[in-house]
Amino acid sequence: MIRRCAQCRQPTLLPVSRRMQVYNSVIRYKCDNCSAEVDITPAASIGVLTMVGVLAFSFWGWITFGRGGEVSITSLSLFAAAVIIFSLIAFAPLAKHFRNPLVKAGARNCPPLDAGGDHIAKRPILWVERLGYFAGLLVPVVVILGVLGVAALIGYINFTYFSN
Ligand SMILES: [Zn+2]
Repeated sequence: MIRRCAQCRQPTLLPVSRRMQVYNSVIRYKCDNCSAEVDITPAASIGVLTMVGVLAFSFWGWITFGRGGEVSITSLSLFAAAVIIFSLIAFAPLAKHFRNPLVKAGARNCPPLDAGGDHIAKRPILWVERLGYFAGLLVPVVVILGVLGVAALIGYINFTYFSN
């Protein structure tokens, strides 16, 4: 996990610490050469965020524009503004990946989590964050399918054993 520093262009950006945020962890990198510091969000978490946004905007778009009626300028510009703001939020952490690209994966392990951060979803988040960006994209879909599957199972059991 060594990255190339965006400041001095040397492959000397090393992970120094890791802490939990609300929906993901963040790894702090520090450059051995120029002491620049940068916070990198694991790519899988950015993938999860991207897909949650895509699903949310699809749902919003379907409700607002899916019925084929008149589309007002207000609802259209509100939708467009939200898409733009979301894209900026989602792609800012992704841009750091490109500006500080990995030079050696696994050469130095991920630092342990900072103590004291008792996060309710620490384990599933850390598990997901071992994946890559594109696997992260699939995580919300898998979760939704899982929830629907459990709901269908409960409905089936309810219908089969408890009806009449
Ligand atoms: Zn540097």
